[in-house]
Amino acid sequence: MSFTSFDLHPDLLRAVDALGYTLPTPIQKDAIPPALAGRDVLACAMTGSGKTAAFILPILQRLLGRPTGVTRALVLAPTRELAAQIDEHRRALARFTRIGGAAIFGGVSMGPQETAFRRGADVLVATPGRLLDHLSRPYARLDRIETLVLDEADRMLDMGFLPDIRRIMKLLPAQRQNLLFSATMPPAIAALARELLRQPVTLDIERPSAPAVGVSHAAYPVAAEMKLPLLVELLRQPGVRNALVFTRTKHRANRLAEGLVRQGVPADRIHGNRSQAQRTQALAAFKAGTCRVLVATDIAARGIDVTGLSHVVNFDVPPAAEDYIHRVGRTARAEAVGDAMTLVSPAEEGDLRSIERAVGTRIPRVTLPGFDYAARPAERLEIPLADRLAAMRAERRRGQDRRWRH
Ligand code: AMP
Repeated sequence: MSFTSFDLHPDLLRAVDALGYTLPTPIQKDAIPPALAGRDVLACAMTGSGKTAAFILPILQRLLGRPTGVTRALVLAPTRELAAQIDEHRRALARFTRIGGAAIFGGVSMGPQETAFRRGADVLVATPGRLLDHLSRPYARLDRIETLVLDEADRMLDMGFLPDIRRIMKLLPAQRQNLLFSATMPPAIAALARELLRQPVTLDIERPSAPAVGVSHAAYPVAAEMKLPLLVELLRQPGVRNALVFTRTKHRANRLAEGLVRQGVPADRIHGNRSQAQRTQALAAFKAGTCRVLVATDIAARGIDVTGLSHVVNFDVPPAAEDYIHRVGRTARAEAVGDAMTLVSPAEEGDLRSIERAVGTRIPRVTLPGFDYAARPAERLEIPLADRLAAMRAERRRGQDRRWRH
């Protein structure tokens, strides 16, 4: 089956061709026909499945031939990065048409986004919080929306966006098409789907959550304090073109990126405490290949798509199987191949085993030949909390001693 078997305008087929897509991915095969027919769709689809084109192409097809300058489609996404990426994808697919659009997200000035509302951007891709900021102003109206997409709905709920989503839905016309995409289908998503969708076409619901095919998984057992030296060695292995490295916290992301740079590995970091400009810049450098290693936290990296990403590294074992699936979904996107490496300290073995149970595969344990696992590094990535508290107490005592002496 090729893209030409969908009822798509030649200008859209040209864009698909220009992007180098030859065959539709499974989610595209299943979602595009009902979405083109105006049906509601509930799709279980992960990042990397090709879901963005699965909802953007029908939206564009339905807008073609209509007057532009009216906002008729709204896509809600959980993070700024994902919103920016969907908007980029929209631009690429609409490049041979006159259909415009804009991304609406926080961390950047409201001005250009206000202009997009006033101009009537045809397709808006927004994060819920910033969209509501605009909707409290008179220029922002969504009363001509014909299609609403909720992308990565499970993550939006995890991030507490449900009340915002409900408020936004009240401002949309009741008569509209709804497309809901979610990597997982917990009960809260099923409830939202029942509330939102009318007789939806339901796709892939039966499939258990599993990592993308084409990823090879390996776990590297290592003492917690040897993770940084091991990572430096792993990044030196042949075949590691670039790596997206996940840490548990923003603090560890900072320390790790600094540690890598000190070891001569060019690395940058993205997480919620960084400004939008810093995040955009780090991501652009990573995508352009000028910075080979990007350290990230789960939320910031949500939905990030880097063509040709060769490695995903879990510097820390993720707390939930779902996060593991999302993280490793960054590589092996749309049927490519990639490697997922997880560094496991003895304390994290239990978490890794729960992940293996949830995804239904055993992740092979691997040791890196020639690496000195028994060595202990001169610098530690993070001073353990107990040691930090002890140091603070000692410092306080020294201060008191000084006061008493005076
Ligand atoms: P998504 O799941 O929408 O984030 O897409 C994941 C990646 O797959 C993106 O880099 C897309 O450009 C790419 N992609 C989407 N559809 C196709 C396709 N039919 N053939 C090849 N690559 C695709």
